[in-house]
Amino acid sequence: MVQKDDTFRHQGMRRKLVEEIKQKGITDVAVLEAIGSVPRHLFMDNSFIQYAYIDKAFPIAVGQTISQPYTVAFQTESLKLKKFDKVLEVGTGSGYQAAVLCKMGATVYTIERHKALYDFARILLPTLGYRPQFFYGDGYLGLPTYGPFDKIIVTAGASTVPEPLKQQLKIGGILVIPIGKSNLQTMKIVTRISETVYAEEDKGGFVFVPLLNGLAE
Ligand code: SAH
Repeated sequence: MVQKDDTFRHQGMRRKLVEEIKQKGITDVAVLEAIGSVPRHLFMDNSFIQYAYIDKAFPIAVGQTISQPYTVAFQTESLKLKKFDKVLEVGTGSGYQAAVLCKMGATVYTIERHKALYDFARILLPTLGYRPQFFYGDGYLGLPTYGPFDKIIVTAGASTVPEPLKQQLKIGGILVIPIGKSNLQTMKIVTRISETVYAEEDKGGFVFVPLLNGLAE
């Protein structure tokens, strides 16, 4: 049974979290409002509710994690979202990042390789009023039949930028992806300048679970 209460206590804890990520350098007001509004505790197991508004990643099912709120805010801010942007998220996980993107008015397509997580998120999010399109599949390949996308966000660490994702970016579009070894990645911001030219920028170190090929199980 999913516990759907969002009490004044939770809202108060969220306000403190927003202050904390603001201190850490997030300035985009729409991002801060979304973090202040999406009830992160409902994306985690009930018994861990006291960890929901601490600025840390936390374990969810099948050895995966719900990303750290600061990281969610940083990646979201890097996307420079406009309302109705068509956004692909690779790595649905708990569905929290997808909910933040929906809250900001994006049209969201999210893909996950673990069936259990895909099922959890696709049931939970509509009950909270967030309606991304959910896909069970290998996000390394993107969603060729649904692209191209204005923005693409990858929430798992890859060794290189997957070519299919670059191809599915609109010209002028932005792809945000952590690149590196399993214990530390660099956030890469890739902008598609033209049909063949991409600009890349590196933005600091982060830690993510790995982007893996194929479906789980
Ligand atoms: N955005 C998530 C973070 C989840 S962690 C959240 O807000 O909770 C990253 C997720 O990426 C994991 O659930 C993992 O299973 C998934 N993942 C890893 N490789 C993938 C791939 N090739 N395709 C789709 N999902 C993948």
